[in-house]
Amino acid sequence: MVKELICIVCPQGCHLTVDEEKDCQVSGNRCARGVAYGKSEVMNPTRILTSTVCVRSALHPRCPVKTDRPIPKKDLLRAMTLLDDMVLVPPVRRGDVVIAKVLGHSCDFVATRDILE
Ligand code: SF4
Repeated sequence: MVKELICIVCPQGCHLTVDEEKDCQVSGNRCARGVAYGKSEVMNPTRILTSTVCVRSALHPRCPVKTDRPIPKKDLLRAMTLLDDMVLVPPVRRGDVVIAKVLGHSCDFVATRDILE
């Protein structure tokens, strides 16, 4: 099966085709980064996950968070549920680790803004 996708690694936006029956051979790329992107998007797609968590603060009741690295797309929903019952207590600093090693992966949920009170 041949999959078509657009490379999002740079603004060129090359139209890639990835042939799953030929060891995920990539064509349409203008550089090697497109090969790596095309293969990973078909074999193990990953995403940065962004969300918010509760904060014990009348002024800022939610704090935006994100994973500091991409995680496999198949784990996104399970990772979201880890945030459901979480309540942060100020002060929260941008970059603070909210959850370490999300689902055993080598990435953390980190706060993306300061909430000082
Ligand atoms: S294949 Fe290379 S040039 Fe094309 S969009 Fe991807 S990174 Fe950019």
